[in-house]
Amino acid sequence: MFIRATAIILINLPLFFVDSAFLILVENMNNQAWSDRDLKVLWHPCSQMKDYAEQGLPLIPIKSGQGVWLEDFEGQRYLDAISSWWVNLFGHANPRINQAVKQQLDTLEHVILGGFSHEAAILLAEQLVAITPPGLDKCFYADNGSSAVEIALKMSFHYWRNLGQPEKTKFITLENSYHGETLGALAVGDVGLYKDTYAPLLMEVITAPGPDCFYRESGESWEAYSTRRFADMEQLLAEHAGNVAAVIVEPLVQCAGSMRMYHPVYLSLLREACDKYQVHLIADEIAVGFGRTGTLFACEQAAITPDFLCLSKGLSGGYLPLSAVLTRNSIYQAFYDDYQRLTAFLHSHSYTGNALACRAALATLAIFQQDAVIDNNQQLARLMREATAPFADHPHVAEVRQTGMIVAIELVKDKQRREPFPWQERRGLKVFQHALTQGVLLRPLGNVIYFMPPYVINAQEIKMMVDVAWQGIACAVKD
Ligand SMILES: *Cc1c(COP(=O)(O)O)cnc(C)c1O
Repeated sequence: MFIRATAIILINLPLFFVDSAFLILVENMNNQAWSDRDLKVLWHPCSQMKDYAEQGLPLIPIKSGQGVWLEDFEGQRYLDAISSWWVNLFGHANPRINQAVKQQLDTLEHVILGGFSHEAAILLAEQLVAITPPGLDKCFYADNGSSAVEIALKMSFHYWRNLGQPEKTKFITLENSYHGETLGALAVGDVGLYKDTYAPLLMEVITAPGPDCFYRESGESWEAYSTRRFADMEQLLAEHAGNVAAVIVEPLVQCAGSMRMYHPVYLSLLREACDKYQVHLIADEIAVGFGRTGTLFACEQAAITPDFLCLSKGLSGGYLPLSAVLTRNSIYQAFYDDYQRLTAFLHSHSYTGNALACRAALATLAIFQQDAVIDNNQQLARLMREATAPFADHPHVAEVRQTGMIVAIELVKDKQRREPFPWQERRGLKVFQHALTQGVLLRPLGNVIYFMPPYVINAQEIKMMVDVAWQGIACAVKD
């Protein structure tokens, strides 16, 4: 590190005093030093801060990233098996995305999208309209997933109001669903850990029993189970349609809800029923979009078009905050009128359609086109299936499930009775901690260990990731 600082000083003579002092300070910092400074000023997302400050949970400062690898300040590398919270598709520091963002940076970083526009926002909207299921013609931008959900909810309600049906104020949501953390998004979610505390602040929703195939009878197929579970949804729609604006679902995989999965038939049935009962269908593909489930969008597997499609996370390749809500011309038309009629959708976020983020998204979509990503992912998904198959026989694994590029392993205390480990024991956390020492970043959801790697992972890295999880589980289940 001394040599490196010196080299930079020599090149950078005029800035000697400022630069050298700063660089030497920074270069001497190890993980612990960064972590100490962090904990003095930072409050981390989805964390009990005491875990880091007093319970020995490491807080890992990352210095750089390359492909599926992250590197800390002591040269330790971590395989990013969860794509940095499901956002990264083509690796960290991807040369093609880097190049596109750098060019955009020298041209235009951001401009207000109310009354103004820019090339990247227009090109991206054109491409999203072209690649999403047929019938989605208009693209509304925001800057994170929760905001996209809020927008879809507001647009749906507002559509019915503009059409003279202001009594359609309710939303139907699925058991175990997750749609984000802002109050509206939290209200339509159903993960108690995140939601219960805030219940007094949240709008009331109608929660339908879920199609989650973990609960199917032994010998029952996913398709049969998801079909059977639709009866409850149909009944709720029949009962409440007059007051319901929309049904919101995460197509095929309830990611934050422990990576629970269901069969596409549920989506086909839901589409038919929403048409029959005149209720919108909102598909939240924030986590599952862009190839995660084996098709570009999960809705394709049911051959349906939702009325609203929410996209974020992988949209920008994991680079920059960006989200989009795609909807139909017919919905757009219900807002389109003389200003004085006050039917417009007056919703905005400061960074709506940010130029750097849109450019990262365009570069991401270009990779999908150039590299036959969806086909390649089938190979990777097969490797992941083969590598994780042995977990099914593990005495503390209730289920190994997979949809495309997502594999989840459900740990239980009692395999036969599927009795979960008490959540207080935090078994998953032990897997996380073990994996870190072995150079793999896993971040289990409770007692569900899952793999959701960037699409640039190779066979050897898949093997390493799975082997480390196996050892981690061995550590976590022994008492
Ligand atoms: C992550 C996620 C969200 C929320 O997105 P943020 O950008 O974190 O606000 C919403 N829905 C689903 C399905 C998600 O996985």
